[in-house]
Amino acid sequence: PFDVLVVGGGPAGSAAAIYAARKGIRTGVVAERFGGQVLDTLAIENFISVTETEGPKLAMALEQHVKEYDVDVMNLQKAAELIPGDLIEVKLASGASLKSKSVILTTGARWREMNVPGEKEYRGKGVAYCPHCDGPLFKGKRVAVIGGGNSGVEAAIDLAGIVAHVTLLEFDSTLRADAVLQRKLLSLPNVTVITEALTSEVLGDGQKVTGLTYKNRNTDDLTQVELEGIFVQIGLLPNTDWLKGTVALSQRGEIEINTRGETSVPGVFAAGDCTTVPYKQIIIAMGAGSTAALGAFDHLIRASAP
Ligand code: FAD
Repeated sequence: PFDVLVVGGGPAGSAAAIYAARKGIRTGVVAERFGGQVLDTLAIENFISVTETEGPKLAMALEQHVKEYDVDVMNLQKAAELIPGDLIEVKLASGASLKSKSVILTTGARWREMNVPGEKEYRGKGVAYCPHCDGPLFKGKRVAVIGGGNSGVEAAIDLAGIVAHVTLLEFDSTLRADAVLQRKLLSLPNVTVITEALTSEVLGDGQKVTGLTYKNRNTDDLTQVELEGIFVQIGLLPNTDWLKGTVALSQRGEIEINTRGETSVPGVFAAGDCTTVPYKQIIIAMGAGSTAALGAFDHLIRASAP
């Protein structure tokens, strides 16, 4: 069996694997797609100490760094079931089964999409999901934020300080964000809020976003808005469906962890975007992965004490 088995091969999983392997213990990584969300990212400008890089380049560097160590990397393998015990079992979708004294879950998350024409085509060409990552790219431009929950309203407030104008579109008749956030939003001069608006199309010129169309849900009237960027803020979905009923999850499906990365199951740790960590970023996921690996190592030396 492994001493540490990491499930997921993004920034969190890579950091966890390196920290574990450096303790000289048997370490494995099973990943559906090594690199994770980083593979889908264009410019990265907030990975501290690296002024600018690209997602695929960083993903390659992650893999190279992990492979510097004696880590058993099982790529293109999906974990389907976790069975707690003295030896924890991870069953793969392929039917194979792996056993380990400790497991670190780093399966990440994915942004919920609007599923409207143009969204996929213009992803990274004006359609964005992360204001912390891509907000500065729209300096002085006009953007929309889709979604009036806490993350949408926070994004709109954040972006209003950088861009020329923000249009916030909410499907419902009222915003769902906390009152204090709504008050802040409404106090900003360069923000327009439109409710009962169903975004129906992302418009572009073939190269980049030029606007969007939304439908008024009462009148069915279609309106076009000219703008350069669209931030979709309708939810971040953790990849934790396969853990339901085994590991304690929050209401949003995030794995609950403590400051050492421990989950509700002894010997099972978690890190990164799949957890309750409040901010989802590469550098934060790496720090959390390192914490979880050190937590797992602490657990192992205690578990094997005579
Ligand atoms: P992920 O990167 O999501 O990795 C999860 C890993 O788990 C993957 O290898 C996946 O294949 C695997 N996996 C999932 N389910 C299973 C399963 N059942 N079995 C086995 N493996 C599984 N952050 C920044 O800091 N700066 C940026 O500029 C930035 N830009 C971004 C742009 C885009 C378009 C996106 C989508 C995200 C961006 N982010 C950015 C966020 C950043 O990518 C994430 O915070 C980070 O990748 C999270 O790392 P993670 O390891 O927790 O999860």
